[in-house]
Amino acid sequence: MTVETTGVVGAGLMGRDIAGLLANAGYDVALVDVDPDALDRARAVHESALADELRAGGLDVSGTPADRIAYGTDLEALSDADFVVEAVPEDLELKRDLAGSLEGVIDDDAVLGTNTSSLTPGDVAAGMERPERVVLFHFANPAMRRDLVEVAGDDATDRALETAHDVARAIDRRPIRLRREYRANGLSRLSASIKCAATWELLEAAPAAVDVGARNVGFDRGPLELIDLIGLDVHLATVDNLAETYGDRYAPPPEWRTRMEARVADGRLGKKTGAGFFEWDGETCVIPEPAEPHDVTPILAALVNEAHRLVDDGVGDPETIDEILKRGSGGDVGPFDVEAMFGRESLRETLERRRRETDAPVYEPVF
Ligand code: NAD
Repeated sequence: MTVETTGVVGAGLMGRDIAGLLANAGYDVALVDVDPDALDRARAVHESALADELRAGGLDVSGTPADRIAYGTDLEALSDADFVVEAVPEDLELKRDLAGSLEGVIDDDAVLGTNTSSLTPGDVAAGMERPERVVLFHFANPAMRRDLVEVAGDDATDRALETAHDVARAIDRRPIRLRREYRANGLSRLSASIKCAATWELLEAAPAAVDVGARNVGFDRGPLELIDLIGLDVHLATVDNLAETYGDRYAPPPEWRTRMEARVADGRLGKKTGAGFFEWDGETCVIPEPAEPHDVTPILAALVNEAHRLVDDGVGDPETIDEILKRGSGGDVGPFDVEAMFGRESLRETLERRRRETDAPVYEPVF
């Protein structure tokens, strides 16, 4: 199917960048949000910084991409779109309602991509008359800098999946097909396991010791800084979404859940409010020097464990899972590379030890 006109619903952090990528590929883009202020903010970023952001992401800029984006609050603006990406907040009812409303607007053969991080395309499409047109179209954050779009859809038509692949290639992002759809796809499950293990390590060490320990072994950002980046509130909501499918596999220790909830109640949500686990100075996370960095081998072991789970679940082979983490993190090490470096036996022993000490499900070895 040839895609000419595209749409994005949700002009927040992700939708804004996705619209920019689509426009840069030459598509006309209708960007729709219920909040006119969000549209104004997205327009301001597009007009002032889109070309620079695209170049910083290693992309060639064609013309003035911002000129191809039309901003509006009415879904009717999407009536001509062949391919629509939804990037509204991670709330199942909201996404389902939106999918139902979109169906009344878009053409019968238009394809809907969902950027959901913790739900499945099947979850989102459950109330639609044509659920087979919905595919996972999941970007890594920041979308401009991470060369990855995870594509999946157990019930999607080949045509819908191929269209998603074509659009991803057209916007110069590498599509990676997941063989099975699971809540939290590939990247988000790997990420959830790291973040969860980091909260269990807080029983042993201060936040700064955990994150500096992680940076010392090559993490671009520590896992607690990552929670600050997405927001403690969003992280806890994601953990709850995942609990429906995975039980308490990604849950923090109860005492830290309570502390994180208290921080949320105090307005310490993370970067967006200037403080979370750490203080933030604009874009910079201010991490105090710890007395001693923590040994984060258990966090790496949890990552490798989750990679094995993804392979066991049939989401992808080890090469694919490595590729997802490398592209999604912007690094050059995947979980199976970590396994090769640290040794499978040694990592399993670490998992067994931390499982005994904490009883945390995230440390239950599967390999
Ligand atoms: P965000 O809160 O920054 O933006 C969401 C936008 O959707 C807001 O501007 C809001 O006004 C708008 N919105 C809410 N209800 C709407 C509706 N009914 N119709 C139209 N617009 C509506 O959220 P985000 O961080 O951009 O996340 C969006 C989606 O992308 C979520 O599903 C999230 O899980 C996923 N995602 C996020 C990240 C990340 O790191 N933030 C990474 C990958 C995927």
